[in-house]
Amino acid sequence: MLARDIFLAKLHRGAAPRVSAGSATSVVTTDLMQEVGVFFPEAHLDAEAMARLAAAGHEVLGFDNVMPLFSVWHESAALGCQVDWGERGRMPDGRAMTANLADDVPIPANFLEHPGCAIPLRALALLKRRLGKDAAVVGKVFGPWTLAYHVYGVENVLLASVLEPERLKQVIRRLLPVTVAFARAQIDSGADALTLADHCTRDLCSPETYRDFLLDIHAELHARIACPLILHICGDTSDRLSYIRKTGLECFHFDSKVPAAAARTLAGDSLALMGGTSNIAVIRNGDEALVQADVRGKLSAGIDIIGPECAVLLDAPYRNLRTLRDAVVQSGGGGR
Ligand SMILES: [Zn+2]
Repeated sequence: MLARDIFLAKLHRGAAPRVSAGSATSVVTTDLMQEVGVFFPEAHLDAEAMARLAAAGHEVLGFDNVMPLFSVWHESAALGCQVDWGERGRMPDGRAMTANLADDVPIPANFLEHPGCAIPLRALALLKRRLGKDAAVVGKVFGPWTLAYHVYGVENVLLASVLEPERLKQVIRRLLPVTVAFARAQIDSGADALTLADHCTRDLCSPETYRDFLLDIHAELHARIACPLILHICGDTSDRLSYIRKTGLECFHFDSKVPAAAARTLAGDSLALMGGTSNIAVIRNGDEALVQADVRGKLSAGIDIIGPECAVLLDAPYRNLRTLRDAVVQSGGGGR
């Protein structure tokens, strides 16, 4: 069974000869950029550079999937947010367009043609053509909750969730078509599956906020986007996993703040689990033995796709990601 097929089978908790090694978020490190000879910020701004760096996820690290949207700002740049695309050792950052949730920020009719969207769409097509038989090509979209953070600012959205909940629901409804349109364009470009990142995390909001603002929205995204979706939420999500499993989404990409065994119990039998390996303790600071022990823990907990919990820190050594992948493959475990 090819890496691509193992990854896609495991997204559904399906049968495969082994568990998968992969990630819904960036696996780029500074030493991986040096290995490939492609660097930030060019890899955010040029489709060929983006595709070459993303391909290293499979060709150098050996992961079962590739994912070229390394930054969180692509579609927000296309909506009109000012974005600083960063530098070799620094991820991009952007600025909100307005602090006032009463502003109906216009959604440009041609936002998919803006470089923020057009470049990753071209990179996905290149990856599909070059690696599409061997590795799963995973795209990434942001859900309307995170898009609202980007457009209006995090504090303003969180305040509105308490003070103006009906207005915030209108804002989320207005932004929802952005997620759907970018997702469908990525599928048309060759994405086999999509990361849906929507940062309704415990540090910032309650589980009831997830239930009241996002459960139905995520279920609707699942219904309207015709490929497997991997929901990514950083931080401790143990208090909202019981809601997430009701969305019908195929897979949840979880943070090491949720112990793997607890995540498995809370996710139930049908929601696949990806990630859960600490980016600081294991991927950046760990040695080979620690990485291998972490993989054994994930295997015994029943994690379907093993890999880092979120975007890997740029100063991590990529050999730890390769070690993780080799441990997953050599284990031969977890198949069913
Ligand atoms: Zn994250």
